[in-house]
Amino acid sequence: MTGAKLELSAEEMRAAGYLVVDRLVEHLATLGAQRVGTKADPGNLPLFPRGAAPEKPAPFEEVLSLVEQHVLAYTMHVNHPRFLAYVPGPGNFIGALADALVSGFNVFSGTWISGSGPEAVERETIGWLREWCGFPASAGGLFVSGGSMANLTALAAARQARIGFGDQRARVYLSTQAHASLEKGLRILGFAPGQVVKLEADGEYRLPVPALAQRIALDRDAGLLPFCVIASAGTTNTGAIDDLPGIARLCREQDLWFHIDGAYGAAAVLTARGRKLLAGIELADSLSFDPHKWLFQPFECGCVLVREGERLEQAFNIHADYMSDTRRYSAEFNYADSGIQLTRGFRALKLWMSVRTFGLAAFREAIEHGFEMAEFAAQEIERLEGWELVSGPRMGIVCFRYNEGPEGLHERIVDALIADGTALATTTTLAGRTVLRFCTINPRTTEEDIRLALAAIDAIARRLASGRAEV
Ligand SMILES: *Cc1c(COP(=O)(O)O)cnc(C)c1O
Repeated sequence: MTGAKLELSAEEMRAAGYLVVDRLVEHLATLGAQRVGTKADPGNLPLFPRGAAPEKPAPFEEVLSLVEQHVLAYTMHVNHPRFLAYVPGPGNFIGALADALVSGFNVFSGTWISGSGPEAVERETIGWLREWCGFPASAGGLFVSGGSMANLTALAAARQARIGFGDQRARVYLSTQAHASLEKGLRILGFAPGQVVKLEADGEYRLPVPALAQRIALDRDAGLLPFCVIASAGTTNTGAIDDLPGIARLCREQDLWFHIDGAYGAAAVLTARGRKLLAGIELADSLSFDPHKWLFQPFECGCVLVREGERLEQAFNIHADYMSDTRRYSAEFNYADSGIQLTRGFRALKLWMSVRTFGLAAFREAIEHGFEMAEFAAQEIERLEGWELVSGPRMGIVCFRYNEGPEGLHERIVDALIADGTALATTTTLAGRTVLRFCTINPRTTEEDIRLALAAIDAIARRLASGRAEV
């Protein structure tokens, strides 16, 4: 392909585009019959032709084929029905097409002047999320890359609203089960490790409210400045949901900012049982919500909601002369002024288009299916000899362990699973013990997939525990 304008002819664009669509459809239509993915051996690189960037052009087909053979071939298919590790990324094809549109049009979604349609769609979509979570009409929010950025954005708003900058007495509270991105965000914001108070989670992996109240009182007595409590609405480890109403009450009494990390679990409010489990989510001052997890959007699609919408602008709006034209009409709004990024991709569109295409009822069913698959997995695990169900089923997550075998068995099971390719689960640590963990939120995961995954894991565990050589 040639041309200093970096352009293709209309025919060439179509041919290249159709090639990509065909490749995608072939992949997605056969996904369940494929390996769950492949991890490259870092000692065995280079996988792809390396060296300086080539001066000369090459046919697109050739470049695409390199990508397929050497890049995509070495990924875990996080949308595979037997990828049960971490948090699966089920995605959806309409969402992927929305991303293609956004990328092709190269939509700028930061200001009204450059993208008024996109700003309006983002506001409508944020409005949906606000309603689903029971936030008031005054709430605001925006799309970000994911839960990590949502947590950082919310915590920056909390700091601005409650304490301003540099007060060493400031304290923020969370549990030992809270997601690492919260600590990371607090570090980025300049909080010292001693300002982040981690309370030991209780036996249900929840933030213990009495201990929290006690610690806040002690800290106040010591002249410190508690300003924020972070609860989890679905921890990544076990799906545990902190006592949201109890923590909300405490925060109100103590005049503290209440942030809920719902990056994993918030989408469950779309189902009847999720709404029950997540009661109190509507009481947060800020909430992180990751549509690229249990709301089935392609990466990257995270979202932050803030009860008093203007708190975001107060935290992030900084004047720039070259942006003056974006400020002349007060009815126009600019998402760039409510968050970290100026140039922003149009992340709302994939959610907006996929909900319009499939209908919200399909999303509710798809989320409900995640609960059911974890319940099914738990039943099967309890029937399997030698295995203990350690936690769950809760919010689409189960944790379990094999009761015999040498130290390091569960990590070795993961390595053997990666080599085997049938399914993937990964480990975590609960109460000092290593466990395997399933997260079953992919709506394309069937009971048969769960059975196949457990059969593979059970066979590997027995083989490893008995010290038989790997086959
Ligand atoms: C996944 C997750 C995050 C981080 O979200 P990313 O989208 O990976 O940045 C934060 N909190 C919880 C509870 C999560 O499960």
